[in-house]
Amino acid sequence: MASNLLLNTASNGMSKKFIIANWKMNPESLAQVNDILDSVTDHLQALSSQPFFLIFCPPFIFIEEVSKTLQTTSLGQRAELGAQDIAMNDDGALTGEVSGPMLVKLGVRYVIVGHSERRWKLGESDEVVNQKIRVALRSELVPIVCLGERARDEHYQDFLREQTKKTFKGLSSDEVAKCIIAYEPVWAISTTPGARPDTPESALDSVRIIRDYLANSYKLTAISFLYGGSITSANVADFLALDEFYGTLVGGASINREEFVKILEIAARHSA
Ligand code: PEP
Repeated sequence: MASNLLLNTASNGMSKKFIIANWKMNPESLAQVNDILDSVTDHLQALSSQPFFLIFCPPFIFIEEVSKTLQTTSLGQRAELGAQDIAMNDDGALTGEVSGPMLVKLGVRYVIVGHSERRWKLGESDEVVNQKIRVALRSELVPIVCLGERARDEHYQDFLREQTKKTFKGLSSDEVAKCIIAYEPVWAISTTPGARPDTPESALDSVRIIRDYLANSYKLTAISFLYGGSITSANVADFLALDEFYGTLVGGASINREEFVKILEIAARHSA
């Protein structure tokens, strides 16, 4: 029986929550990247300890610069580096793609896989997402696997079961246990027209569907989840307060310096 990575972390006595900053295709300049990192550094320096894991996922063009900042400043003790995507092969001819081994060389440890913008706007199938989980694991990157329904209609529970099944198809229990799973309903992502954040209670209902499927199919003893979708300083505490959520994936609010620092402040209060 395998248990999930985040719960293993917790059972080691570190029940820290995760705050993952998905910058998407932002910001526009390196100067803005540095502004965000400087604000976060200033804020974190004021904390005597940091009771949460912080992971920055910049676009590819800024990864090297963020990596240098993490290696050469105090922020490196406080934050880690993730990528927003990974090529589905380790090497070879794949124009425009960036491979797992390339990311590792830049100091990346985590990679978002199957984000809904890639699934729905760029046509990434469950099979491609599955392959990307495999290549990430081969490079010893931690996949942050996004799952979530497009609409909360009468079929959404079946949709979630099917998406989970296909996304993890053929992986071993140990491999699934190495993934961080982010439940991100597409209708709750801030850039979706008419978006509204899910409530923790309703997100938990969805998470239970995914968790039950994985528990039955992979004999995982316990699985922990992140929530993502219109997280702001107004609602982050509601999700962090629940034991079932091991953190949040923050999109739009993570590139707004003031708002992101507020989120970190709240995370510091709500993590163990
Ligand atoms: C995301 O894109 O992963 C996300 C959660 O976005 P937002 O916070 O902007 O809804």
